[in-house]
Amino acid sequence: EETSPSNFIRQIIEHDLAANKFAQRRWNGGAGDASFQAQGQPDPAKIRTRFPPEPNGYLHIGHAKSICLNFGLAQAYGGVCHMRFDDTNPEKEEQEYVDSILDAVQWLGFGWEANGQDHLFYASDYFDFMYRAAEYLITAGHAYVDEQSADEMRANRGTLTEPGKPSPWRDRRAEENLVRFREMRAGQHADGSMVLRAKIDMAAPNMNLRDPAIYRIKRAEHHRTGNTWCIYPMYTFAHPIEDALEQITHSICTLEFEDQRPFYDWLLARLAEGGLLAEPLPKQYEFARLNLTYAVTSKRKLLQMVQEKIVDGWDDPRMPTLAGIRRRGYTPESIQLFCERIGVSKADSWIDYSILEGALRDDLDPKAARAIAVLNPLKLIIDNYPAGQSEACHAPIHPHHPELGKREFPLSRELWIEAEDFTETPPKGYFRLFPGNKVRLRYGYVVECTGCDKDANGNVVTVHCQYLPDTKSGTPGADSVKVKGNIHWVSAEHALAAEVRLFDRLFTDPHPDSGGKDFKAALNPNAKQVIQAYLEPTLAHAAPENRYQFERHGYFVADRKDFQAGQPVFNRIATLKDSWGK
Ligand code: ATP
Ligand code: MG
Ligand code: MG
Repeated sequence: EETSPSNFIRQIIEHDLAANKFAQRRWNGGAGDASFQAQGQPDPAKIRTRFPPEPNGYLHIGHAKSICLNFGLAQAYGGVCHMRFDDTNPEKEEQEYVDSILDAVQWLGFGWEANGQDHLFYASDYFDFMYRAAEYLITAGHAYVDEQSADEMRANRGTLTEPGKPSPWRDRRAEENLVRFREMRAGQHADGSMVLRAKIDMAAPNMNLRDPAIYRIKRAEHHRTGNTWCIYPMYTFAHPIEDALEQITHSICTLEFEDQRPFYDWLLARLAEGGLLAEPLPKQYEFARLNLTYAVTSKRKLLQMVQEKIVDGWDDPRMPTLAGIRRRGYTPESIQLFCERIGVSKADSWIDYSILEGALRDDLDPKAARAIAVLNPLKLIIDNYPAGQSEACHAPIHPHHPELGKREFPLSRELWIEAEDFTETPPKGYFRLFPGNKVRLRYGYVVECTGCDKDANGNVVTVHCQYLPDTKSGTPGADSVKVKGNIHWVSAEHALAAEVRLFDRLFTDPHPDSGGKDFKAALNPNAKQVIQAYLEPTLAHAAPENRYQFERHGYFVADRKDFQAGQPVFNRIATLKDSWGK
């Protein structure tokens, strides 16, 4: 059991709560403006956070950090975390993505139901309010319609050392701006011909305050509002309003939005002045995004890999998407543990992929049932074991949980063993099968290797041995013969033939897309290997998403899509920590 490490956001929340900062808030169910809020009830939530993805792709491991943080803080402080779609960019957004995102958040173990209400929100539900807010800004002299071309606007924005040049439209009267803005909305102007801009300061050192665009004309069908709108709010305008309408107390985002915070505060302050929003207004806090080695965490690049069929879809087990990670076999608990371990800070850094694998092992080791799999099979014949006969061997389902009981599987004359467990010419320190050496067949007998058969090319095709009948595991004679090697096996006649998919990192470069590199140049062509393996027959009863530790090999999962009774398919989630030294 690990406790959540204290982080700077927790300290801010604890400070706010101690100061009773949110005690006067009224809650109206969300999605309401100031006049509506006044009629609300005292807010049952001590704090409100939100997870606000744009539905333009599947979530990735970076999002898990934000999910665990936002939902985790709400849980820890008696608050509520809103699930909100930031769907203000219709061309890239789709219902498929909405569905996959909801699925991933629930899979991770979080929900948006609290205090008898569903806290599932869509920015597009606020388009009317956003439009009214824009008209208010125009009326109050805080916004104007700019008819410069995009190039002119860019050129007049200035640089870090030079102030921007005011647009010739900057001082147009409010009434005229309002007429133009209404024309924009009515579809009387072409896409891109004009934008609504906030009127702040063209000389501001922070470029984001040099009259940022807040509405644009875009004739695009929206996956929820259809063709109701031909103008859409910019993300930087929409997001603070979404937070305020939902009475978010702590709006937590990644560091690249730090420079947007002054506009966030400016906008909300103007709308509160105008009586459109109520105090206390939300506050934005930034934390460092997750960068995971050997992975890319950008929806755009992940989409590119899907579209170019570099991977087999969003849920390809090699993908760092939550759908892929799930299909690979990761547990939600292991992702939560990973997020706890990496913590939350303001310093950008790379997290090593081994931390993710370590969390998986630490989660699964105490709970995954054990089983035997032979991945690279070689026939072993026990020449002194009667043909046609078999006997039961027993092994614990879990070595540290005897209460879980035992599994039973047969031993017979012909077995499958790993090809690596036999050699004719043993190197120093090799304790497994070689002519004249004795090893234990795990949970079975001690056998002595007598030789091997080869094909015309000199490849070993069969290994021969003799068993020592008094040495069966679990019998009094088990320790009568001491051996150093202990190998796993399955009975050839009884084994379950299965497809096993072995995965490696998707990229060979730990930082595949940093410094402007082409991430596709670093793709690992051998990241997926499909083999035919022989498994312990008890695995015939597995179900999709059942996870096991295949002894000596690592953690495996029955594939959630392709596993079928009679047609088993397993994915390797992660190897064991190297245990060959033992
Ligand atoms: P992408 O660049 O992959 O599209 P995004 O930030 O545009 O990511 P959003 O859908 O806007 O994706 O993300 C929703 C939330 O998840 C945001 O609050 C964002 O800050 C957070 N988030 C996205 N990527 C990461 C990351 N790598 N680490 C931590 N949080 C992240
Ligand atoms: Mg975003
Ligand atoms: Mg994005």
